[in-house]
Amino acid sequence: MSDGNPVADCLFCRIVAKEIPAEVVRETDTTLAFRDIHPQAPTHVLVVPKAHYPNAAALAVGDPVQAAAVLAEAGEVAAQEKIAESGYRMIFNTGEGAGQTVFHAHVHVLGGKGSLHGAL
Ligand code: 5GP
Repeated sequence: MSDGNPVADCLFCRIVAKEIPAEVVRETDTTLAFRDIHPQAPTHVLVVPKAHYPNAAALAVGDPVQAAAVLAEAGEVAAQEKIAESGYRMIFNTGEGAGQTVFHAHVHVLGGKGSLHGAL
């Protein structure tokens, strides 16, 4: 059971701790937003809680206030990146079978020209 404490071998805990560089676009006391290293759309930003939870659902159970902060920040990123008006996607991959590769809660914020015609 996760308690939000940093995990030593977690990539996003290390980005939050600034041990690994990332292109940060926004930061609050409880969240960090940075560009995905392999962008899948013209705008592709990841928003993570600074606390460690393995996925979005675990974050919502463990720290609902921080879960809401992540969603609010995703909206702020969309406004800052100027994709709010055209529309954007928030994606939470949960579990290996769904393509989750980093087991620290994060939302993908995806938008920009040609990015809104995926499978869903
Ligand atoms: P997931 O597949 O777990 O939903 O998303 C993890 C995302 O993290 C992927 O889109 C991947 O490109 C991104 N990623 C993996 N390693 C790094 C890194 O070192 N820096 C950044 N900025 N993004 C990363």
